[in-house]
Amino acid sequence: MQTPLDRYRQTATRTALPLYVQTSEKHTDISDLTSASLDNLWSVHDNPGTHSNGCSLLDLKIEIAKRIMQKCSLCEWRCGADRAAGETGFCGVGSESYYFFEQILCGEEAPVIPSHEVFFSGCNMRCKFCYSWQSLENTSYGKLMNATDFAETVENRKAEGAVNLNLIGGEPTVHLLNILQAIKSFKSPIPIVWNSNLYMSTSTMRLLDGIVDLYLGDFKYGNDTCASQIGGIKHYFETVTRNFISAASSSDIIIRHLMLPGHVECCFRPIAQWISKNMPDVPFNLMPQYTPFYQALNDPELSKSLTPEEIAEAGSITSSLNLNMREWNIPLDMDRPATCIGTGELSTTVIIRPDGRVTFMHLHNDLLQVVESLENGGI
Ligand code: SF4
Repeated sequence: MQTPLDRYRQTATRTALPLYVQTSEKHTDISDLTSASLDNLWSVHDNPGTHSNGCSLLDLKIEIAKRIMQKCSLCEWRCGADRAAGETGFCGVGSESYYFFEQILCGEEAPVIPSHEVFFSGCNMRCKFCYSWQSLENTSYGKLMNATDFAETVENRKAEGAVNLNLIGGEPTVHLLNILQAIKSFKSPIPIVWNSNLYMSTSTMRLLDGIVDLYLGDFKYGNDTCASQIGGIKHYFETVTRNFISAASSSDIIIRHLMLPGHVECCFRPIAQWISKNMPDVPFNLMPQYTPFYQALNDPELSKSLTPEEIAEAGSITSSLNLNMREWNIPLDMDRPATCIGTGELSTTVIIRPDGRVTFMHLHNDLLQVVESLENGGI
């Protein structure tokens, strides 16, 4: 019988190769694409094989993404910035993309690991508890993305054992064009995991159809008031629920919710109710590992930890609504290869919280013993 692990790994064959198939025998060069109207490009995109003059679907997606970014509406902010000309909108990202970390990791859901995770700088949300806060304030944080070099890195990680390419941020959506251009340089397909807040526009969802094998979708807030106050975002609930439905119709999806202290009733309960009503079979991962970072450290509510009562209440909600958490009944050490340890650069961050608790982020293996010793009262 096929396990969830098998299913997610088998998505490997869904991506990339069809994107390169020429849709007619007559070839054309990219200049023909650039002279076509956006309406015509969408028409070809949505009806491949009809009148595309031999360009690939991926070429079409790249050209459409370029057009969208000339008056940017990649996400629902719809800033209208001409990012090709170097203008920036809410996310602060222009025409270039930077990533500040890439490594094979095993911290995602068991069926998805070992995963080549790439963290891009820049995001279209401003969550007060963001653990990638350095890249929110500095969108040039990290390494400049170059399509050829990036493709080579992906190939190398794949050879080292990664079963997918996991694009994270910040938010990958704001880097769509550079990611598509990098995929064009891939020598062989690899499943694409879009690790996202799903606050993208419908146009972006259309472009991602056929690119993304699995959405790891963060369902962060259960109402627009909390989304605005904590995430700095408007029209949240309507936008992301629309995109969750669209994502589930075009590829595999796992929905996650990071529990926030004091937000079980206002956020988690409505999220759970929506999932139960609209996509009850979709795998759902409830994450109780909240730790305050960034502005949450100075926020009276968000600097707290979750209480055992809140975690118990959330568990009772998931049970009563019968959310699909069965997929995660896989031991996390199952099939975990050595590649999950120590590949790539890693900087350990130490946070001392207002309540005196100490949090380590990206803890090096060689520091683990020191921390365990401190935890046990010695050194
Ligand atoms: S990606 Fe979103 S936030 Fe960034 S410029 Fe475009 S519309 Fe604005």
